[in-house]
Amino acid sequence: MIRACVIGWPIRQSRSPLIHGFWIRKYGLSGSYEKREIAPEELGAFVQRIGTDFAGCNVTVPHKEEVMKWLDGVDDTARAIGAVNTIWSEGGKRFGTNTDMAGFLVNLDQQAPGWDRAPLSAVVLGAGGAARAVVCGLVRRKAAKIVLVNRSRKRAEELAREFGPNSAACEYHDLPGLLEDASLLVNATSLGMVGKADLDVSLEGLSPSAVVTDLVYAPLKTGLLEKASRRGNRTVDGLGMLLHQAVPAFEKWFGVKPEVTPELRALIEADIRSAA
Ligand code: NAP
Repeated sequence: MIRACVIGWPIRQSRSPLIHGFWIRKYGLSGSYEKREIAPEELGAFVQRIGTDFAGCNVTVPHKEEVMKWLDGVDDTARAIGAVNTIWSEGGKRFGTNTDMAGFLVNLDQQAPGWDRAPLSAVVLGAGGAARAVVCGLVRRKAAKIVLVNRSRKRAEELAREFGPNSAACEYHDLPGLLEDASLLVNATSLGMVGKADLDVSLEGLSPSAVVTDLVYAPLKTGLLEKASRRGNRTVDGLGMLLHQAVPAFEKWFGVKPEVTPELRALIEADIRSAA
């Protein structure tokens, strides 16, 4: 019996148990995947249980950065992003990686083939944990230009500095000019999510060939994606990223590379709709 879980604080909102539970059933495995609410002061003690009580876990807000100090090692991707969302154990030690970047890239590759054709010029809204994974992915795809726009400019500037010479920070009021140049627009803020304010940006000037993607997946069709599809831009929702980031984690713990199928997507879509 292989046990895995997702830890966060709070954790009620996580859809990971639905995704991993679907795969455990589909592949007929003897395993479980549960939610564990872990307060910050419990984090170190919980990590010690990986390798004994649990084969591994996913990590969500607010522990993705803090958890790194409790691990024996992290891979290059987690180090570059500066955050861990997946932990596993090997030889009595605990290691971390970050699968958000792969989820982001695979989702775009599947839903908007050719999105990274050179010269890739991206505008990324937000500079939090998810934006870090996005920017890291864009750098790996050799983006010629990455502009970060964030409410707190300082955070965007720090991220731009960290990710090198093709990245820069700008303000929301610079957007009209920036969009003329962009082949990809990414919302990596939490705006537009159920219970949060809308992301109120004008897409005027955005090239009709630009791809627009939102990391927010509840609702599935955010205000930004609605606006973009009305203008005829290709759009990609955030649910694919959530599903694809789960694939490498499941494979590490359960030893089977699972498939993201229309059936799985329909299950999570139904859950998102029923919670709305
Ligand atoms: P985070 O680290 O808390 O960052 C939140 C970002 O949103 C920051 O850039 C923040 O700006 C901005 N923001 C929040 N409220 C704002 C407001 N009122 N006005 C303007 N900007 C505001 O969160 P995160 O982990 O990066 O997650 C961001 C979003 O991505 C969430 O909706 C999350 O659910 C989603 N996400 C999706 C996936 C997926 O698989 N699809 C994976 C990871 C995350 P400041 O820096 O100025 O505070």
